[in-house]
Amino acid sequence: MNLEKLEQLLKDEKKYRLFQIKKAIFVDLIEDPHLISSLPKELREKLNKELDLKINAKLFESQKTNTKKILITLNDSSQIESVLMQYESGRNTVCVSCQVGCPMNCSFCLTGQMGFKRNLTVSEIIEQVLYFQRLLKKHNDSVKNIVFMGMGEPMLNYENVISAIKILNDKDAFNIGARKISISTCGIVNGINKLGDENIQSNLAISLHAPNDKIRSKIMPINNKDNIESILKAVKNYIKTTNRKVMFEYALIDGINDSEKNALELAKLMKNKLFMVNLIKYNKTGVYKSPKTEVIKKFKDILIKNGVNVTERYRFGEEINAACGQLAGKS
Ligand code: SAH
Repeated sequence: MNLEKLEQLLKDEKKYRLFQIKKAIFVDLIEDPHLISSLPKELREKLNKELDLKINAKLFESQKTNTKKILITLNDSSQIESVLMQYESGRNTVCVSCQVGCPMNCSFCLTGQMGFKRNLTVSEIIEQVLYFQRLLKKHNDSVKNIVFMGMGEPMLNYENVISAIKILNDKDAFNIGARKISISTCGIVNGINKLGDENIQSNLAISLHAPNDKIRSKIMPINNKDNIESILKAVKNYIKTTNRKVMFEYALIDGINDSEKNALELAKLMKNKLFMVNLIKYNKTGVYKSPKTEVIKKFKDILIKNGVNVTERYRFGEEINAACGQLAGKS
């Protein structure tokens, strides 16, 4: 897809043409510009020649957990992955990527191990959602939630992520409420600060994964730059300006960050009514082991006992390598 061409293609056209085309692409989900019947024939021809609405994707499905993953090949032949998680409640959540690879190098994440190639364009971010929107439409259904939890670090492709959110949010385009859109970051302080000033009602999630700097620096190199104290300070500021809850993701890794002592340390950090902890069982990437169910339960109980708001993440799509940290852009 090459939606970024649209503006230039329409520069000599009347303003409302953009509105008609947006409706055709994002609401009516038309894949062939010839079929945009509200446009004059010449404009349709021009769009057909210049605008590419095809999404080059290979689909993988897990029946067991109702998860679908796509591997998209982009115009420069880079590959990215996105995941659709379908909950029984009818919530359809798309997990989108924002970079080809990732420069953050977290030791437990496969995306990090593939290295970093480049940022995605706005069009490349949007097409991941558009693919699933087209797929769901066949069942009279639609995408309800978006999480920026695929490949890459959203705060390092900040401008494009924000522009994509505006299109996802746009009433004339996807019309997905900002509160249904979450951005997850490994804790880039300057991005958290910018987001706070943005005046968008989207959700913020922080990949914390450790209760102290010693452990965190070992598994997340970014912590040597933006440590836990600086992240929490930025998050508190963010809450002051937005009054929104913030989610802290904590992947439990056997023998690394899952002891009772770690749970107590984490509980101390998370004493805040607007902080929520989301516990994730480490998904296998060939480096560490995931903890036993009893260990997770004990960890969670300690947090609860100490007054922390805690949820446990349901695990999607491990059999098709679609779970958190397993997206590696090759299937
Ligand atoms: N770069 C952003 C977006 C990635 S979101 C961020 O770091 O938040 C993907 C989430 O899955 C992050 O919380 C990430 O730390 C987590 N994750 C990565 N590898 C994982 C693994 N093997 N098991 C469980 N969670 C993992």
